[in-house]
Amino acid sequence: MAQQRTILVIGAGFTGAVIARRMAESGHRAIVIDERDHVAGNCHTARDPETGIMVHLYGPHIFHTDDDDVWQFMAQHCEMMPYRHQVKARVGERVYSLPVNLHTINQLAGRAMSPAEARAFVAAQSIKGDNPPESFEDQALRMVGPRIYAAFFKGYTQKQWGVTPDRLPAAILKRLPLRFTYDDNYFFHRHQGIPRDGYTAAVASILDHPRITLHTRTSHEGFSPPAEVAHTVYTGPLDRYFGHRLGRLGYRTLRFAHHVAEAPFQGTAVMNYCDADVPQTRITEHVYFAPWEMAGRTRSVVTHEYSCAAGPGDIPYYPVRLIDDKARLGAYVDLARTTTGVTFAGRLGNYAYLDMDVAIRRAFEVASHLHDAFTRAARPEIFVHPV
Ligand code: FAD
Ligand code: UDP
Repeated sequence: MAQQRTILVIGAGFTGAVIARRMAESGHRAIVIDERDHVAGNCHTARDPETGIMVHLYGPHIFHTDDDDVWQFMAQHCEMMPYRHQVKARVGERVYSLPVNLHTINQLAGRAMSPAEARAFVAAQSIKGDNPPESFEDQALRMVGPRIYAAFFKGYTQKQWGVTPDRLPAAILKRLPLRFTYDDNYFFHRHQGIPRDGYTAAVASILDHPRITLHTRTSHEGFSPPAEVAHTVYTGPLDRYFGHRLGRLGYRTLRFAHHVAEAPFQGTAVMNYCDADVPQTRITEHVYFAPWEMAGRTRSVVTHEYSCAAGPGDIPYYPVRLIDDKARLGAYVDLARTTTGVTFAGRLGNYAYLDMDVAIRRAFEVASHLHDAFTRAARPEIFVHPV
């Protein structure tokens, strides 16, 4: 029989909320704190007071997964509405279809190629190499060749990450497909959707359990944990936990400029701006994330999104993971391994680029590990390795 323990969870995003929930369902108690005035971390959504439109305040979030357990878990906490994500790309004065598909290739070439012709067309442009591609640029040149790379990837990636793509890992581009059909669904997962009442309501439901206590507007630096806390799960930035004593890990932050406009503003949920000399990376029109609420709308909420290096007071959104960061990350990982009583989890705690479904799957694993350790009356000194 497991000993019932109390854990402290720092961060009420998906990672912290799911760990707390799973632990509570196993009979333990969880105290969850978050320094923001809301739960759901960067997935936070709220209705715009003027128009009533559900706004994705920290950038567009679409739930997509092949993980049946994660999808079922979400279904217990919200009504997941069907949603198919389509993204357009603006290059110069033209608009193209994304992710790169047969339509995009035909638009760029000004032709009407069949799938087989387009495949041969792209293969003829792609740059061959013997070694596996290391950088984003190598990967892109192998995959699509210089013309498609220059149009859709080079400028956007430079703006998004603040460095030239030859300094970025190839893995970033591997997130995107290349298709020789007219399928323009941005994702390829079996399950895709958006919660009817937004992500914040879903996370609030996850946290709604008699053995979970939540304190928002509470940072871990200013919080004295009660004596019964047996273990801490930290989902904030890894370097922040250690007071940045080994230097700062690199993050990109985002600036969002929201405004109300006439509907439709751009006529689609997300338009990427791929040219390096256009300041925004993308423009989001939120009403398109809730097609079930669109009828009769005359006004729209629109967000211009800009990416820049995160300074000390900024919200860290994307771990950059350049070569310097990797060396520093290794040193922080060593430090974390010698830190007893704390598990580091989530996108910031693991300094990893995790989608929501992966964050939830990992949270299941952390909770199950902690519960097992408590059952064996062992000390759960685990550190979830950064990927
Ligand atoms: P977070 O959401 O970052 O939560 C961490 C929480 O910890 C925050 O609430 C923070 O306030 C709190 N915190 C941190 N430090 C402290 C501290 N010291 N004291 C107290 N509280 C603290 N994923 C998808 O699956 N689909 C998408 O379409 C998608 N789009 C995205 C778009 C953008 C712009 C970004 C940045 C991410 C996107 N993601 C998407 C990823 C998604 O946001 C993450 O998977 C998710 O937020 C991970 O949850 P988390 O709990 O690990 O981290
Ligand atoms: N990307 C790009 N052009 C685009 C869209 C994406 O160059 O129009 C690159 C960019 O480097 C981005 C990566 O591909 O970081 C992954 O794209 P995704 O849409 O998955 O990015 P997200 O905003 O979800 O991080």
